[in-house]
Amino acid sequence: MKKILFLFLFVTIIANAFAQNIQRPKLVVGIAVDQMRWDYLYRFYDRYGDGGFKRLLNEGFSCENTMINYLPSYTAVGHSVIFTGSIPAIDGIVGNDWVDQITGKKWYCTEDSTVQTVGAAGKGGQMSPRNLLVSTITDELRLATNFRSKVVGVSLKDRASILPAGHTANAAFWFDDSSARFITSTYYMNELPGWAQKFNDENRPQKLMDNDWNTLYPAHTYIQSTADNEPWEGKLKGEHAPVFPHDLKNIYKEKRGDLRTTPFGNTLTLDFAKAAVDGYNLGNGEATDFLTINCASTDYVGHNYGPNSIEVEDTYLRLDKDLASLFQFLDQKVGYGQYLVFLTADHGAAHSIGFMQAHNIPADFLISKDLNDSLEKFLVGQFRVKDLVSSTYNYHISFDFKKIKAKNLNYEAVKKATVGFLQRQPGILFAVDIEHIGEAPIPEPIKSKIINGFNPQRCGPLMIIPYPGWFSGKKGGTGTTHGNWNPYDTHIPLVFMGWNIKHGATNRTVNMSDISPTLAALLHIQMPNGNVGKVIEEIVNKK
Ligand SMILES: [Zn+2]
Repeated sequence: MKKILFLFLFVTIIANAFAQNIQRPKLVVGIAVDQMRWDYLYRFYDRYGDGGFKRLLNEGFSCENTMINYLPSYTAVGHSVIFTGSIPAIDGIVGNDWVDQITGKKWYCTEDSTVQTVGAAGKGGQMSPRNLLVSTITDELRLATNFRSKVVGVSLKDRASILPAGHTANAAFWFDDSSARFITSTYYMNELPGWAQKFNDENRPQKLMDNDWNTLYPAHTYIQSTADNEPWEGKLKGEHAPVFPHDLKNIYKEKRGDLRTTPFGNTLTLDFAKAAVDGYNLGNGEATDFLTINCASTDYVGHNYGPNSIEVEDTYLRLDKDLASLFQFLDQKVGYGQYLVFLTADHGAAHSIGFMQAHNIPADFLISKDLNDSLEKFLVGQFRVKDLVSSTYNYHISFDFKKIKAKNLNYEAVKKATVGFLQRQPGILFAVDIEHIGEAPIPEPIKSKIINGFNPQRCGPLMIIPYPGWFSGKKGGTGTTHGNWNPYDTHIPLVFMGWNIKHGATNRTVNMSDISPTLAALLHIQMPNGNVGKVIEEIVNKK
């Protein structure tokens, strides 16, 4: 009798479990804030409002030690890894640009001459995800729901819209400076949807740029930043000094692309993202939808002024308000707790070199031109052949294989001599022949990051690792950049909030490539096909 009762209970439990549909959020919103260092969550915390970054931290789950696990830490590479759970060695997006090692052709990550621009004249729309060699989490959602899920990507940058949205996206939109319109390509559609045309017709970029960019609060309250005018800050077109108020109306007349280098580029992007939610009715369909958003202006502002400028602080305070408005909009449109949002970054940024030197912390420029010239001189002296090095993209050094063969040179000898020379140059911590990295005395985590970033068809065989604080640039350069292994470039925020996410945090180190498998687990869908990441169990486990 006991046995029968047990069997009855067991069957009932199983039957109930299958009676319910798979539980999924109505919408997933993936936000990548371009060049957002992890420490910005806390450096400006006291000045954030309750609805933006603070809401993420106070309601959501934060992975406080999320690291980029490859090199170089550049935009296209980061967006690909976030949304594929893969690494550049496998997914093929090894930089924003690269040289094909077999053909010698230079590639931009999303260029595609087989498609045409939609929504404006010009070549800005000749883009697609075809160079991405693996599936994305957004592709996997489409596959899992037999394409009933809708996937849309939005960014000012083509690469930051296209790569996250994947191969099977319903749409990806990016911003065209010359027409001041969001555009797409025939890869996705032949005509912009009516809502996007309407948005473009409203002339919002001009309206945003008609005002001065003044600080949101009185300038003296920006106590986390340097004085307004520092010698290491860059200027916008037509400006004599990098100071507030920035006369955006005239700057925009001089150079339309400078809209990107203001906080209002993020405002425009998030307004377009909201229009896309309405336009495609995202989060209100029969299956889970996925919206990918990249806020790119933080990157442009950071590059121009550096992380310690009032401009960067003000850009984050404004983004905080824009994010609060987005979350409020989603609460209304999709429902509080009905959508899953995560916020992360494609990379961080170094402090400006002038700023570091002013405070006696070691930092300097690796002057790329000087280095290229002296390397050329050295190789000609050694091998009596000009231009053996074909490119030095992404801290990778490529050789002209045809020339090496035609001149009957020993490839291994050329590499060995080059490594030996580079290793003796100022600012270079390590120069390594990646094809022999197993024998190289390079410490972790640098070694793994080099290997994870090395795709032999798309990367030169040698790599340079600069000293901490150093980066490639020109003498007297302003602003900052990113691309290296150091924590300032590779320690990124990662916060999940909303549907099925409990409040909490972990200080366990996780990797950028763990984001997609964690999403896959939350959504009960397959991981992308180049995935190497691991599920962040603290987020998925209920207790
Ligand atoms: Zn950048």
